Amino acid sequence: MSKHKKSATALAEEKILAAWEKQSAFQKSLQRRAGAQYFAFNDGPPFANGLPHFGHSLVTAIKDSMLRYKTMRGYHTPRRNGWDCHGLPVEYDVEKAFGVSGKKQIMQLGLEKFNAACCQSIFRYKAEWEDFLARIGRWSDYQNYYATVDTDYTESVWWVLKQIHQKGLLYRGLKSTPYCPRCETPLSNFELNEGYRDNVPDPSVFALFPLKNDPSTKLLAWTTTPWTLPANAALAVNPRADYAYVKLVSGDSTLILAKSRLSELELRKHDYSLSKTVKGKELVGLRYEPLYRLPEGKFTGQQTKNAHQVFADAAVSLEDGTGILHVAPRYGETDLELGLKEKLPLIESVNASGQLIFGPKEALGLFFKEADRHIIADLTRHGRIFAAEMAEHTYPFCWRCETPLMYFATTSWFVEVSKVRDRLIKTAEDINWVPAHIKTGRFGKWLEGARDWAISRNRYWGAPLPIWQNVDDEDDYIIVGSIKELEDLAGTTLAAKEGNAVIDLHRPFIDEITIKKAGKTYKRVEEVLDCWFESGSMPVAQWHYPFENKELFDKTLPADFITEGLDQTRLWFYVQHVIATILFDKPAFKNVIVNGIILAADGQKLSKRLRNYPPTEDVFDEEGADAWRLYLLSSTQATETADYMRFDRSSMRDLRRNVLDTLSNSFRFFKTYADVDGWKPKQLETPTSDNILDQWIQARLAETVKASTKSADNYKIAHAILPVFELIDDLSNWYIRRSRRRFWKSENDKDKNQAYATLHYVLARVSQLLAPWAPFIADELWVDLTKGLKEPKSIHLTDWPKPDRASTKVLEEMRKVRGYIAEGLAQRAAANIKVRQPLSAVSLPKVDESYRDIIAEELNVKRVLWSRAKPVDIDTKITPELRSEGIIREVIRYVQSARKKAGLAVDDRIHLRIESSSKEVNQAVERFKDTVSSETLTTDELKGKGSYSETVDVEGQKAVISLKRAGM
Ligand SMILES: [Zn+2]
Repeated sequence: MSKHKKSATALAEEKILAAWEKQSAFQKSLQRRAGAQYFAFNDGPPFANGLPHFGHSLVTAIKDSMLRYKTMRGYHTPRRNGWDCHGLPVEYDVEKAFGVSGKKQIMQLGLEKFNAACCQSIFRYKAEWEDFLARIGRWSDYQNYYATVDTDYTESVWWVLKQIHQKGLLYRGLKSTPYCPRCETPLSNFELNEGYRDNVPDPSVFALFPLKNDPSTKLLAWTTTPWTLPANAALAVNPRADYAYVKLVSGDSTLILAKSRLSELELRKHDYSLSKTVKGKELVGLRYEPLYRLPEGKFTGQQTKNAHQVFADAAVSLEDGTGILHVAPRYGETDLELGLKEKLPLIESVNASGQLIFGPKEALGLFFKEADRHIIADLTRHGRIFAAEMAEHTYPFCWRCETPLMYFATTSWFVEVSKVRDRLIKTAEDINWVPAHIKTGRFGKWLEGARDWAISRNRYWGAPLPIWQNVDDEDDYIIVGSIKELEDLAGTTLAAKEGNAVIDLHRPFIDEITIKKAGKTYKRVEEVLDCWFESGSMPVAQWHYPFENKELFDKTLPADFITEGLDQTRLWFYVQHVIATILFDKPAFKNVIVNGIILAADGQKLSKRLRNYPPTEDVFDEEGADAWRLYLLSSTQATETADYMRFDRSSMRDLRRNVLDTLSNSFRFFKTYADVDGWKPKQLETPTSDNILDQWIQARLAETVKASTKSADNYKIAHAILPVFELIDDLSNWYIRRSRRRFWKSENDKDKNQAYATLHYVLARVSQLLAPWAPFIADELWVDLTKGLKEPKSIHLTDWPKPDRASTKVLEEMRKVRGYIAEGLAQRAAANIKVRQPLSAVSLPKVDESYRDIIAEELNVKRVLWSRAKPVDIDTKITPELRSEGIIREVIRYVQSARKKAGLAVDDRIHLRIESSSKEVNQAVERFKDTVSSETLTTDELKGKGSYSETVDVEGQKAVISLKRAGM
């Protein structure tokens, strides 16, 4: 429950939510399109083990809006939401709850208990999520959701993996991957990208490697990861680069380093003399003294023999360091490549939990980053350090637990994405990206560099890898593609555990199933699948394809539309695309809106700790969902650059006031007068009118429908909304303002009817143009405007408006006229004359006669003269008559405001008295008696005391206005 009072807007929105619920509006909106063209939307599933937060609002608004729009456009758009259930976010919370971390402790706790707790936590906040989604107006099938935890879902994921295997794209290999030692799992490259931090202080160490046959000559190598130095197996040089032998002035050592990197010595103020220069390839084969002697008995003779010498590698960089690479094959990508190629020992200095296991005794068991300084101290004592400093650089951290990552060579299962790179690029050609630059930019570039995807995780709570391995031969394995297949192979029937409705495929139960075949025993490999493999399989697995729903699957791949945040370009968008391309040679989706990341008003990241954004319920209860949606959706940063958008609550309030309140006021204006006159629409159809203002607003409407439709069809939501904002402004600040008098007139003549019909029609259509984006206020207006008409009971059951045929000439002319008026008003302002003061004449270029009255009234002039001369010229001379009229306009304005303050209705008649000691005021009142009476609905002069009285200032002269309602 929120602490504050709900605004009238919030209460109105809640009423509309209840009405939708009561009339099953969402279900009806689908039913009425049942036979229509299918529009497939795929929901990117969030985790329900965390609460929805402010940052989820934008993507939610886009999803709901686009689907409401497509429904109005005539498509059948079923939508079910999905839930992400597996993976580290869940495990991480459960580890915290049990106070355990790392494999050992989890195993001690018991995998069954651990996974049961994970399973219990996945839907912890599902109700809160559903409340949030519903309150912001997202229509979705909340009962019939898909969840990655479901057995059916997992079975499809297995099937996907088997397809990949059958295409020869699955392999097992030793691979260097970013690795989180706390989570004890490799991370994919795209996960790595989420966790880089700048300006991380780390040691910068120059280590010395004396030559075996000439210990006073030393190779100089540079590293920022001293914890890898005990694992040094070789050095590498660039064969084509020049290397210098330099003699240091202090001491008698000779150092070898790349000639282009001699600046490293100069930087440290070492004077030296150049002895000779050689090509890198001449250094190849030189043997050096190892920093630490190889652990005994761990490596083959060949590995031992190959260790600790110089190799050539064209990839060695001359951009930083010394041009001599320290090679620790277990802890780097190029290192591993070289290590495997040259059959080097894969020395392990740090284990899978990130603890030092080889190196100086005093550092053993320490976390690798803490071991750094002990290693530096130890090597310094042994004269193996040339320089050790601290430097800041960019370093990756685990995106989940913020532990510093390391590159670690582990055995992993891979999808050979690099082999299908060309297909990925080809199938991506058909995808429409909003904003467009992502297609060849962020996404396209990512595809060009697509690398093999490590899909196995040494974790617990996930879809188990369906791979059973021969216990005697790790190269002999079986990939299982369905439950039935597993049952046949294992010769057993999988049954649901007691108390469960479905078979549980999770660890540890699945690990108990063994396969015996031709005298061989197969056990499941321990790993689970990367949860991104699961979400990438979503287009298949959401339907339990190919086991069920073949027709639905065919209709929904590729999906017509998806949308998520910018960060998903290399995550969910990418993994879906990879899987759909490999399996079906198609993209997974046709249209994608990439939304920006919401930042706080000051440009900082949204932070719970800094509280730099309002709680979601505060926004719902104050500004309401419509204002929130419209603000996010219309913000161009959000949909046009997909960069970052700053959330500024005061801008959202401005929008509420300038757009939604303006529309409400226009609606109220209509309703007030229509009620007074008892005017009722007979139907909702394009009105015809002789009045130029009516023709103009209809043309503006038609123009807006066209522009808005075109942009929305192109998934450019901001561009679909902004023209509607302009129309709302024109409707209020031009059409209604200029037409006000037409509604005041007491006779129900033709012109008045045309004004009502036009305003009613335009309000109804504007509501429709807003319906997808601001579904609440749109429906509220619609229901009222169509009461008694044969129209759908909710705006969300209507068809998107088509543009009426309308003249564009009137738009052009009105634009010109408004330009002249603006110029005339500017001249008034320059002469310091209020608009209320009538003037005698203006001359301006000729326009159609029908605009004459508009110009005269707007500029408050007696006469409009057509002149040949181009410029607008207003006569600013004030005669005594004009002055008197100016005074009476001011008096009338005061009376109108007094009427309001006295609480009178617009059609109440009054008795009025105006008293003043000013001769000028009295004369004016006398002279314009009839005008005052008719405009203020005065029937008689007030006798005696009024119900309201006020002293006012008329052009510097005092007057007292007293009035009361006639008939009181
Ligand atoms: Zn981690």
